[in-house]
Amino acid sequence: MVDARSETASIVAGDKADEPPEAERIRRLVAIHGAPLLILDCEAVRRQYRALAAALPGVDLHYALKPLPHPAVVTTLMQEDAWFDLATSGEVDLVRGLGVAPERCIHTHPIKRDRDIRDALDFGVTTFVVDNPDELRKFEKYADQVELLLRVSFRSPDAKVDLSKKFGCTPEAARDLLVLAHDLGIRIKGLSFHVGSQAADPRKHVEAVNACGAIIAWNQAAGLPPLAVLDIGGGFPVEYNEDVPPINEFCRPIREALAQIPQDVRLIAEPGRFISAPAITAVSSVMGKALRDGRWWYYLDDGVYGSYSGQMFDHAKYPVDCLDWAGERFPSVLAGPTCDSIDVIDENIMLPELNEGDLVVGRMMGAYTWASATEFNFFRKAQIVVINEYVGEACEVVPLVG
Ligand SMILES: *Cc1c(COP(=O)(O)O)cnc(C)c1O
Repeated sequence: MVDARSETASIVAGDKADEPPEAERIRRLVAIHGAPLLILDCEAVRRQYRALAAALPGVDLHYALKPLPHPAVVTTLMQEDAWFDLATSGEVDLVRGLGVAPERCIHTHPIKRDRDIRDALDFGVTTFVVDNPDELRKFEKYADQVELLLRVSFRSPDAKVDLSKKFGCTPEAARDLLVLAHDLGIRIKGLSFHVGSQAADPRKHVEAVNACGAIIAWNQAAGLPPLAVLDIGGGFPVEYNEDVPPINEFCRPIREALAQIPQDVRLIAEPGRFISAPAITAVSSVMGKALRDGRWWYYLDDGVYGSYSGQMFDHAKYPVDCLDWAGERFPSVLAGPTCDSIDVIDENIMLPELNEGDLVVGRMMGAYTWASATEFNFFRKAQIVVINEYVGEACEVVPLVG
């Protein structure tokens, strides 16, 4: 048993020898807060932000709140001097309440109600995104207060989530919109795109940067007001179960493409998943078990309607394992707590025989998980516990009800 535990610690953590093994830390947090638990590690947020900033020098990173709209993430990124990407009035309220400077924010939802525009303006955000003539005309009455980004669409059938299908105009339509905006007296200050989340490779980013470069050149030749911003969106991938290149390598061709963009164009990006995904470790416990057709079914207190919602909405598959190794493993089923049969996390996972109360750990669960969890069947969303948050000088564990 002791051997099994030390082995677990070495595979799950990569901890330094002088730190308590991660398994022990997890057990301690569950002893205090109960399960299901989401452990949000601000140090992972910092690490990811710095890694992407280093991979994209000269690009201002606006954290897209959508995948993990949690105050501790926002606060941690404020301490890193990050920028923010908001899409809803709820997100405006969150950053506003935390004291984020509105000049550090852009509002990037391509389709907005007038109230959404006014909420953001009221906070002090002045950069918005449009991708069609109707949306553009919504800004006629705010023309003296706003600067817009034009979202251009580049289809990305390889991406797990193809965000260019729902939003964005074609490069041809972009030219017409630049002319229309000029006629309407609305300032378009730049271009944006989102090639799709969890991009399989950087080719789409490169293509999109090159195509935007062509639009910028066309705009200049047409004598229109200068396009001074290029926003390369999100989509930067993290490693779930498949191999993903290190971020510096992933971004190398993107850096090369960006080097071709005129020097006076400000470069920004809107990373979401890359910053938040590694920051949460989900811990659930076995509520009960049953032997069905020769296979153990383990019913956890968190599932597809809860923190594992990303398996449905985000098409993600997380690295999941039990906390303790205890001998031989058998093909098993991991199910969520609700009374719905689709609430199954994994129908074929190799596990040792587990017992009530044993802990199961899901990794890389910060993006599009808690954010889209439901309380179906009245199973409450998992509680978030924040670790490694800088509060003043100290670095302490701050329990926070999610
Ligand atoms: C969701 C979203 C993002 C974040 O995308 P990731 O793939 O998570 O990096 C950025 N910008 C916009 C407009 C989005 O909708």
